[in-house]
Amino acid sequence: MALPHIGAAVPLLREFAGAAAVLAAGAGATAWGALVPRAQLFGRTIRHTGKPGTLALTFDDGPNPALTPRLLRLLEEHHVRATFFLIGRFVRECPSLVAEIAAQGHTIGNHTYTHPRLFWMTPAQIADELARCQDAIHQVCGQRPVWMRPPFGIRGPHLSLVVRRAGFRGVVMWSRWARDWKPKHIATMVERLRRVRGGDVLLLHDGDHRHLRGDRHLTLAALDYWLPMWKNAGLGFVTLDDIAGRRAPVSAPPLQKDLAPAPLRKSSASGE
Ligand SMILES: [Zn+2]
Repeated sequence: MALPHIGAAVPLLREFAGAAAVLAAGAGATAWGALVPRAQLFGRTIRHTGKPGTLALTFDDGPNPALTPRLLRLLEEHHVRATFFLIGRFVRECPSLVAEIAAQGHTIGNHTYTHPRLFWMTPAQIADELARCQDAIHQVCGQRPVWMRPPFGIRGPHLSLVVRRAGFRGVVMWSRWARDWKPKHIATMVERLRRVRGGDVLLLHDGDHRHLRGDRHLTLAALDYWLPMWKNAGLGFVTLDDIAGRRAPVSAPPLQKDLAPAPLRKSSASGE
């Protein structure tokens, strides 16, 4: 068979390159939809409070017996209510701590049972992860969460439908984070939180999904610094239950009021 003339191959090459570009773009869009907190490709999510004068603190990956009790005391001291997205297998490990979170009026959310990447899972597997976490929480404090947050913030094409069928009211993402899973120094953490504005849903961690007693003392120290500042700036604290009943806009206008900078307290300024 004679080799095709190079001129005949050029359109084929162009077509191939075009198809590859489309595929790459499709993969890019899928990754964007799965990973970027503001993406709504795989269904609407909640990531703002809907009220510019309010702030929703959300804590993932607990309960953590090494930190959550101290966090609860700090929140109580400042009369702040927050939302805790719990990992089911940790709930089984420390039920009394979960009961305490509920007793203090915080909202409890579902962060799955084992903290997997849901994107790669079938609808049945996702439903099982959510159900096992629901059962663990229900057995401990008698409530079934109506909010869920996907581990790593990774969603997928099945999540929205599974969540709806399981009776949840919504998937919760965030508008701001402190990247406190990569803590370096208290000053860095404080600086990262300086960008917080009214209307934000703030992602923080009181636990570490890899093990029960994660070290999150820098998260606590940064909150110790910022809670009084946020209150002085006039922000009110809301839980996801407080936000419920109103659909939080996907892109609520943030409160532009700058939070007054203040010097670090000496006790909070020490490193790890
Ligand atoms: Zn997590």
